[in-house]
Amino acid sequence: MPMSKSFKDRLFPITEQLVEHYGSPFHIYDEVGINETAENLKQLFAGVAGFREYYAIKALPNPAILKLMHEQGFGFDCSSIAELILSRQVGAQGEDIMFTSNNTDQDEFTIAAADGGCVLNLDDISLIEKVPDFPELICFRYNPGPRRTGNVIIGNPVEAKYGVTHEQVVEAYRLAQQRGAKRFGLHTMVASNELDYSYMVETARMLLGITQLIDAELGIKLEFVNIGGGLGIPYEPEQAAIDINALAAEIETLFSSYKEDHGYVPHMYMESGRFMTGPHGCLVTSAINHKDIYRKYIGVDACMSALMRPALYDAYHHIDVIGKENAPKEEVYDIVGSLCENNDKFAVQRQLPKIDEGDILVIHDTGAHGHAMGFQYNAKLRPKELLLRADGSVELIRREELLDDYFATLNFAADRFSPAPKKG
Ligand SMILES: *Cc1c(COP(=O)(O)O)cnc(C)c1O
Repeated sequence: MPMSKSFKDRLFPITEQLVEHYGSPFHIYDEVGINETAENLKQLFAGVAGFREYYAIKALPNPAILKLMHEQGFGFDCSSIAELILSRQVGAQGEDIMFTSNNTDQDEFTIAAADGGCVLNLDDISLIEKVPDFPELICFRYNPGPRRTGNVIIGNPVEAKYGVTHEQVVEAYRLAQQRGAKRFGLHTMVASNELDYSYMVETARMLLGITQLIDAELGIKLEFVNIGGGLGIPYEPEQAAIDINALAAEIETLFSSYKEDHGYVPHMYMESGRFMTGPHGCLVTSAINHKDIYRKYIGVDACMSALMRPALYDAYHHIDVIGKENAPKEEVYDIVGSLCENNDKFAVQRQLPKIDEGDILVIHDTGAHGHAMGFQYNAKLRPKELLLRADGSVELIRREELLDDYFATLNFAADRFSPAPKKG
């Protein structure tokens, strides 16, 4: 179910040609689907004052995709120097960029402030005095602690390393004011892959509660609240999609009644990654081996370097076999990569049609936290990325890693150091 019928209808008939032309494995993303989701989101939230999506770059840090987001008028959520550079490369500037770092170092503050700056979102009260040039506009990440139970992936806020506590939050704004800040925002991120829309409504309500508290204590009127990312997508066929219409409608009601009660209301931002691109990407990989031991295994030419979610989170990713979409699912397989690590499985005991060597498998929903999460453990390299354009053409938007890339960090100038013997 997850991958849209439209994406399937455009991709599946050309998959064999793509494998022939580009070789497998590769991730491929759908321009049409990404733009449709973006436009739908803007339309649904049109009634919420100042609504803006800040696409979470870490979900799919490819300039071709970020360009689509920028053209939609979205900003970017960054949390590293490279992500700041990526967002500026596609034309984002200043308040188009939220920088939400954690355990921030001085280099990050410097780059965040360079080139027109960004919205600095501080993760801790102790960072206030460490910001070299305190900006006029500042934001804090709020961690509600025991006031909120987290969802499954993020977990219990009390155990989460992020944000300022409820007890610190007023003091944080007071200290920021003392350092010269004049404009303020508030941020949180308490959910990940959440399919219950009411959880996100509660997050917005919680932030408006803090907005009111800051106003009452300090007379500060927040310019925006950012409810973070975390909108879920249905990875499993029987899961229902998040009710995004109800989410937008209830948030609109919440914000307009806040405005009625208080005479102003902060703008509402979100920074979804998964929801924007997750279903609009898939991993295409070829079956190269099969083995029948205690279980039946199909070995494919991709491995967890291309997609970590099944190994990390025991996540389900739906799988289609090209040309056998409607064939009876008469076999039970583990679909595996080549890493010397038994977690390197895309599917475990999955009912699938009989797979022959040379068959092409499509692993759904890799458009967010897919390629980007890959690693080089066991010297396995990351695959290429393609973009299926609206006109039906296909573009290489990242080449695969090559052996030279792997060995690049082993080529360096000699640097041998002899520490002086300790005295005494
Ligand atoms: C990862 C992340 C997001 C995006 O999360 P999704 O689950 O992809 O929506 C947004 N904001 C912050 C601060 C993040 O760390």
